[in-house]
Amino acid sequence: MTIKNIDKILDDLEKLHPNAKCELNHDSPFQLLIATILSAQSTDVKVNEVTKSLFKDYKNLNEFLNLDQETLISYIRSIGLYKNKSKNIINLCEILIDEYNGIVPDTMEELVKLPGVGRKTANVVLSNAFNIDGIAVDTHVFRVSKRIGIAKGDTVLKVEFELREKIKKSRWSKSHHVLIFHGRYICKSRKPECDKCNIKDYCDYYIQKN
Ligand code: SF4
Repeated sequence: MTIKNIDKILDDLEKLHPNAKCELNHDSPFQLLIATILSAQSTDVKVNEVTKSLFKDYKNLNEFLNLDQETLISYIRSIGLYKNKSKNIINLCEILIDEYNGIVPDTMEELVKLPGVGRKTANVVLSNAFNIDGIAVDTHVFRVSKRIGIAKGDTVLKVEFELREKIKKSRWSKSHHVLIFHGRYICKSRKPECDKCNIKDYCDYYIQKN
């Protein structure tokens, strides 16, 4: 697939999903970091439900320092992997205070050292909180980019680096959002709604099936 075709695909997807953006509610880099950690193996809708009360009662890092694990769990119990997530968040808050003067770092190298933070979370925070180009590869981006044929890799890391190579840097962050929206609302996991899709002519999956 050529860069020109990929640009055309992204142009068309942007037209199909003009409101593609981060759907995790947050008011600060810190809140986005916490919300993104909570979103692993959960949905943004579910995360927004729990952070609505959590961020109302504990708005920022200083207030999070008053949380013990049990209290945090009482807010996030309905989210998957809540035990690990609560432990990581409590540790992360201490590290932010001890090593980063209470400020969320804005580099990939520093972010991925924090507990519970992998490249996906770091890319989400970098692009949405700091306007630094990045492509976070979640389950939707992974599936959709492979179906279309933009990426072939069998791990999220390989797919992230393929996308970084094939998509212009200036399009990375927006591409992340449109690929997520496409996977969430049209190119669904079990049954993609190809009849509603405007990139059929470029899609390997569609071409092979028809
Ligand atoms: S044509 Fe179907 S499989 Fe291909 S991107 Fe569109 S919805 Fe997904």
